[in-house]
Amino acid sequence: MRSAVLLLNADYTPIKVLSWQRAMVLLIEEKVNLVSAYADMAVRSASASFPFPAVVVLRRYASFAQRVKFNRQNVLARDEHRCQYCGFQPRKTSGAPKLEALTIDHVVPRAQSALGRVVLPWSGKRVAVTCWENVATACVDCNTKKADRTPLQAHMPIRRWPRVPTQWDVLWMAVHWYDVPSEWKDWLPEDSPWREYWEAELES
Ligand SMILES: [Zn+2]
Repeated sequence: MRSAVLLLNADYTPIKVLSWQRAMVLLIEEKVNLVSAYADMAVRSASASFPFPAVVVLRRYASFAQRVKFNRQNVLARDEHRCQYCGFQPRKTSGAPKLEALTIDHVVPRAQSALGRVVLPWSGKRVAVTCWENVATACVDCNTKKADRTPLQAHMPIRRWPRVPTQWDVLWMAVHWYDVPSEWKDWLPEDSPWREYWEAELES
């Protein structure tokens, strides 16, 4: 999606995708420097025209040790907007994930909890019913079919045990869902799936 802006940390590692409006604010506030601009685009005001940012870099190093916020959007992103039981990845005609076709499943169901906690069969860990490690993305059909059972009880193997995502996981998903612009390619790690994604786009 051209008009999205890749934000780099001061050491030039990618950290986030921004809207161009947010990037313009950061540029005006001198919190970031422009690294590259989209060639055939400009941001116009009444009196001036500015390069349209594609990649910007923070002037001061930011530490991203904070945890990823636990919410529906981030759970879906961690799971690549894919049902963790049947693998279905519902999409809109634009290619964007169809969020309304996805639900959040409690892997060990609430019905099997005691005092709001469950024991995860795969790790033996006791956790809150609703937490990163006990929720997974499911399509409506799988969620209905699984009902108040664990994957084992329902004979519905889960593709990946849920985990607490890193900031990196979530950034990866944000980037993955964009049509990665060529202006970003120099800043995506050599061995990352982003690179693969970008190369595949080129070939197709
Ligand atoms: Zn499913």
